[in-house]
Amino acid sequence: MSFILPELPYAYDALEPYMDALTTEIHHDKHHAGYTKNLNAALEKYPEFFDKSIEEILTDLNSVPEEIRTAVRNNGGGYYHHNLWWVELGPNAGGEPNGKLADAIKKEFGDFESFKQKVNSAALTRFGSGWAWLSKRSDGTLIIHSTPNQDSPLSQGLIPLLGIDVWEHAYYLKYQNRRNEFVDAFWNVVKWDEVERRFEESTLP
Ligand code: MN
Repeated sequence: MSFILPELPYAYDALEPYMDALTTEIHHDKHHAGYTKNLNAALEKYPEFFDKSIEEILTDLNSVPEEIRTAVRNNGGGYYHHNLWWVELGPNAGGEPNGKLADAIKKEFGDFESFKQKVNSAALTRFGSGWAWLSKRSDGTLIIHSTPNQDSPLSQGLIPLLGIDVWEHAYYLKYQNRRNEFVDAFWNVVKWDEVERRFEESTLP
């Protein structure tokens, strides 16, 4: 079974005005689809990997044959990160987290504004393409960090809970060089109930 591009769980214009419909369409139908296609193409020579989950593959990249490891790191990361991207976002979202996640954020980063500033800083200081993350360590504590390209927190033993895609393809049509405006707008479409669910339920494979 090859990896399947998940359907966008809402209309292309559902994230307007924070993310424009054309960017969402190209981001899902071209970029996410491209990572999916290239991941499947890379794994064709080693079809035993189709029996694993993408989380299992990214957590143990060393088990991937060297010949295809870079392709899997890049496209497998791109595939998995965008699977997360579309479900961590949504219309009628934003606001602040609740429950155990809110408590953990407060404990580690101070109030919500301070937390947001730290994530924004990780997003704005990521040179070139990559992601800023709120991730969970295996002991359940939180970390704010960033990764280049499509390198995955999973490959560092971290479970990504919330990511900001700061590749230019995520924002350039609407925001051009103004990554800071895109990062500010991002918070209006974060589906905190999904991030809370991941915080409480996700474990490393
Ligand atoms: Mn992207």
